[in-house]
Amino acid sequence: MRTSEIHRRWLDFFAKKQHEVVPSASLVSSDPSILFTIAGMVPFIPYIVGTEKAPYARAVSVQKCIRTNDIENVGRTTRHGTFFQMAGNFSFGDYFKKGAIDFSWELLTGAQDEGGYGLDPERLWITLWEEDQESFDHLVEVIGFPAERIVRLPWEESCWDTGQPGPAGSTGEWHYDRGPEFGPDAPHGVLPEWPGSPEAEDRYIEIWNLVFDQFLRGEGKGKDYPLLGELDQKSIDTGLGVERLAYILQGRNNMYEVDQVFPVIEKAQELSGRVYGADDEDDVRLRVVADHVRSALMLVADGVKPGNEGRGYVLRRLIRRAVRSMRLLGYDDPSMPALLPVSKDVMKESYSQLESDFSRISDVVYAEEEAFRRTLASGTTIFDQLAGGVREQGGRSIAGEDAFRLHDTFGFPIDLTLEMAQEVGLSVDEEGFRSAMSEQRERARADAAAKKTGHTDTALYNRILGQRGEAVPFLGYTESSVATTLESVLVDGALVDTVQAPADIEVVLASTPFYAEMGGQLADQGRIALTGGGIIEVDDVQAPVKGLPVHRGRLVEGEAHPGESAIATIDLERRGAIARAHTATHMVHQALREELGEGATQAGSENSPGRMRFDFRFGQAVPKSSLEEVEGRVNTLLQQELEVTDAQMPIDEAKALGAQALFGEKYGDIVRVVSIGGDWSRELCGGTHVPTTGALGSVNLVGESSIGSGVRRVDALVGLNAYRHQAKEKALVSQLSEIMNVGADDLPERVRSLTQRLRETEKQLAAMRGAQLQAEAGRLVESARTIGGTRVLLHDAGEGIAAGDLRTLVQDLRNRLGEDSPAVVAVVGADGAKAALVVATNAAAREAGRRAGALLKAGAEAMGGRGGGKDDMAQGGGGDPQRTSQTLDAIAAALGADA
Ligand code: ATP
Ligand code: MG
Repeated sequence: MRTSEIHRRWLDFFAKKQHEVVPSASLVSSDPSILFTIAGMVPFIPYIVGTEKAPYARAVSVQKCIRTNDIENVGRTTRHGTFFQMAGNFSFGDYFKKGAIDFSWELLTGAQDEGGYGLDPERLWITLWEEDQESFDHLVEVIGFPAERIVRLPWEESCWDTGQPGPAGSTGEWHYDRGPEFGPDAPHGVLPEWPGSPEAEDRYIEIWNLVFDQFLRGEGKGKDYPLLGELDQKSIDTGLGVERLAYILQGRNNMYEVDQVFPVIEKAQELSGRVYGADDEDDVRLRVVADHVRSALMLVADGVKPGNEGRGYVLRRLIRRAVRSMRLLGYDDPSMPALLPVSKDVMKESYSQLESDFSRISDVVYAEEEAFRRTLASGTTIFDQLAGGVREQGGRSIAGEDAFRLHDTFGFPIDLTLEMAQEVGLSVDEEGFRSAMSEQRERARADAAAKKTGHTDTALYNRILGQRGEAVPFLGYTESSVATTLESVLVDGALVDTVQAPADIEVVLASTPFYAEMGGQLADQGRIALTGGGIIEVDDVQAPVKGLPVHRGRLVEGEAHPGESAIATIDLERRGAIARAHTATHMVHQALREELGEGATQAGSENSPGRMRFDFRFGQAVPKSSLEEVEGRVNTLLQQELEVTDAQMPIDEAKALGAQALFGEKYGDIVRVVSIGGDWSRELCGGTHVPTTGALGSVNLVGESSIGSGVRRVDALVGLNAYRHQAKEKALVSQLSEIMNVGADDLPERVRSLTQRLRETEKQLAAMRGAQLQAEAGRLVESARTIGGTRVLLHDAGEGIAAGDLRTLVQDLRNRLGEDSPAVVAVVGADGAKAALVVATNAAAREAGRRAGALLKAGAEAMGGRGGGKDDMAQGGGGDPQRTSQTLDAIAAALGADA
């Protein structure tokens, strides 16, 4: 049964039982304290905890989940993915234990042709809280489930709670017995060494957890808390691992071999030439690749971008681990462009938007792989120098400081350094590395603390504002230079009476033309000249408390004293560029709402010199055609020289005029409304703008992306920056048309036909190569000789043969030698600096005691490489490409020896 079918049956089953079908929430939960959605119940927490009333009594979902705490288990256990799908059914004050048990029994054991999953009831086990007599009796008496297969556990091992006072409950966990091949039998009523013994976990797989939210719990540490009584509203929340059921129903060994994951393993095998099942470490790597590629796909689809903290870091780590695993499998080229589309193609059956959004998703993932490859490239050179130096001095270990430098400067993860060191026979002073790390963390913590007090200690600023009695007037809407008075001077966060150049200072003026950063508009810069000769260069203006702009900058000449007269002048060029960006933001906002609907409202913005960024609410990627519409509309309106005006008015009046306000922002009673073209665009806004739209020159949208659930971002260049951008693109196009030797208009067609031809040529080439190998194979078979009654074909394929082709050749040769008499094929080849070896046996040879794995070991030893495999097929490599004849001799000798 395909995974998508398990998914569909789940929803159908519970929909028929009057459950509201709730679509999967995003992986990125709207609660910022939760990194990712880790369980199906996460979106329903308010209904379970009781902070909100559920709009339905029963619900069903299949929820996308990410669990990063399972990352180390991936590929090593059979059942832990970083991404997986949790199917759940929920009852909020409706059915309770008996209902939940009945549904789960009916669905798990119901016949497949009647919509069930058709599991053999004899293979099911369930765990319960030892005091949960109600569930026990129901299972035994009503369902007829054998008491021997009910495992009764103490509260600590069977409970669920949120970690704080509130609802808590016991659970019932369905397990599936995979049979004696996977571990010892459980004595009745107790799973072997329950919980947590690896053999037991391999054999008895937890598939479905039923949580019975029944009690109100009090304060306490860990699981040690009092149960205060029963809840008024009891709930059911359950979670079944879709992938776990899939691997059971698909008869596979683990969750990485199911239909939605395995194709990526197959692709990775093809790329790397490693055979899944031939070597335990390789297998783990292949599974890690398949798991992580899928998780990256799903995370980027939900708007996560690689970064250095929080969600972005998890994504970065997943992509990097996948790339690195491919390298450890011997594949050094970019691998994501080959792997990600495979994952998308299998996952889109359940998540169709992966297809439509794929160009954006793949851009993000491929760029991250490229960035990591650059990291690896620069760090590897440094690593080689380090390792060389250590060796030259006869050392055996890389210093912790150096490992730390690789990490800190080149972003080299320590495990990578460890692995690379091991490859060249060195160790790493891990202790030293860790102490360098913690020193750095201490420094960072101290910095952060200093920054925080600098920013959030507003007491002094409040006092200054209190003493002056009113807000500092902002004159910058009309003036660019103002004669005023220096009121307060601060150095290192304290008021001073005098300070001499050079010094970093903060000053408060009696009035100012400087705009303090606010509402997405960046601060003005400029200069303050003091009557005593002092000069302050202002590079930032912030209002730590409302109404008190604080000018931050450097006293470059003379002295500064409170009370001095001053001329404050802003950098007009910067201000102009910022004002153009701000007016452009309002225009893009309005044009987006016209194009996408009124719902596309502002969620944030940034107006900097010559460029703007606008964030708005919209549930999906904005189609290219809509962006073109918006850009066209804005630029048409620029030419119409629309007037930009502003007016102060009571907030109610502004709202009646339809002015857009920023959601969640607090406004005073009197507000400023900025209008463009009369009533075309009206927004509440304190920022500075240009007088007419003509001043903008041109506006160029350069990007559109998602920045979180339901929020999109557009970036645009304004004025001269837009011109420069266009000029650069123009130069690029003319360069391209020169190279391609066609006019600019014919470029797309030319590139399309070229790539088409390239694809065809590649296909032909592959076909030719196949044919050539086949032809060669025919001749090679003739050269088989007989050693101890076995036909043996030993061949040196020479330089330039990819490991994948080598394997195909060996399989082909083995087929040609037939099944009638014992036959062994061994082919050695070299791809660049690495030798590769593949050995295969037919069934008759295996009966005669010939084992591909053992023969390969003998050959690999002779070439100084490694590898392994099963009796029928084995593969290895990495040795000296000059030693191919010794390798084949060693295999011949081994064959002679066993004969
Ligand atoms: P385990 O003890 O096996 O790690 P768990 O107790 O962490 O599982 P729950 O939190 O009870 O699991 O989640 C409910 C169901 O989700 C489990 O019964 C299982 O089928 C599935 N599940 C949990 N974690 C994973 C994972 N990392 N990969 C795949 N499925 C999972
Ligand atoms: Mg569990």
